[in-house]
Amino acid sequence: MDNITNLIRKNILSLTPYSSARDEYKSNQGIFLDANENPFGNLNRYPDPYQWRLKQILSSQKKVGIENILIGNGSDEIIDLVQRVFCDPNEDKIIICPPTYGMYEVYANINNLEIISIPLTEDFQLNTEAILAQNAKILYLCSPNNPTGNSLENLEYIIENFNGIVFLDEAYIDFSEQPSLVSKIKKYPNLIVSQTFSKARGLAAVRVGIAYANEKIISVMNKVKPPYNVSQLNQESAVQSLANEDDFKSNVQLIKSERELLKQSLLALDFVTKIYPSEANFLLVEMENATAIYNSLIEQQIITRNRSSVVENTIRITIGTPRENQQLLYALNLVM
Ligand code: PMP
Repeated sequence: MDNITNLIRKNILSLTPYSSARDEYKSNQGIFLDANENPFGNLNRYPDPYQWRLKQILSSQKKVGIENILIGNGSDEIIDLVQRVFCDPNEDKIIICPPTYGMYEVYANINNLEIISIPLTEDFQLNTEAILAQNAKILYLCSPNNPTGNSLENLEYIIENFNGIVFLDEAYIDFSEQPSLVSKIKKYPNLIVSQTFSKARGLAAVRVGIAYANEKIISVMNKVKPPYNVSQLNQESAVQSLANEDDFKSNVQLIKSERELLKQSLLALDFVTKIYPSEANFLLVEMENATAIYNSLIEQQIITRNRSSVVENTIRITIGTPRENQQLLYALNLVM
């Protein structure tokens, strides 16, 4: 898949993006009377539209070029942006492999794209042959997958052989033992890997997502994104988080060990019939009368996610603090 340009919407290829006077004047020294900002205050200036500081750090940590990185207002913005770059409404198709994260489909509906659904196999793996038999602009894959929790196999084979863009959502990668495929963006020009500060970095409120891809893709995404999509405060919070790798690692370690403890305790409950292997910060738990138990937890002010409509008799439980997990177990014991 070498000719990425052919996949991009024609109107986007020829589009002149928004540009500000500061794109030409490349210094932060001066008297700025160009952007109709208020001269008073300390958050009065528009943020850096290209988020250079944040990208510099990510570039050295992930060993990819700055030109291979795009920052989004959460990775949700990136999911949408990719559709708007590659897919003509009413014409192009995307592939999703359910059960998976819901926003790929939501955005496809908003953007008026046809959705080809190729469900995961019984053990929640990809149906490789069925995927490769399709003709679609974007294939959305999520590994570790939400809500099943497992990592997907055979990814590189699919990326290599798929005739369109592969969007690999690695929102939960830091909780997994599997390697990220960010290092493969050079090898596969049709690969976009997305990650987020919302999960392992604990910054869901901040809204920072990242796309790593071939520079051609990133430069076109830059044309389409709103110029000031990531606030100064978002950018600073993300930079700060990257400066503290020890806290990040110990936090992830704690969540992973709580995941195993909670799993063992849940398995000891009579009505729990199965817990799917998880490489993420949640467990997909199969139980008798899942919906009734979900409702009874709500009554006790414990909110989980009922996933029974997508995987029969399951609720998805996010790993909380040790104390929250204890409270959940206590509540479940009362349910019995
Ligand atoms: N991808 C997956 C698989 C998710 O589960 C989520 C959030 N639940 C997102 C993306 C969205 O993340 P963000 O907060 O970066 O928009």
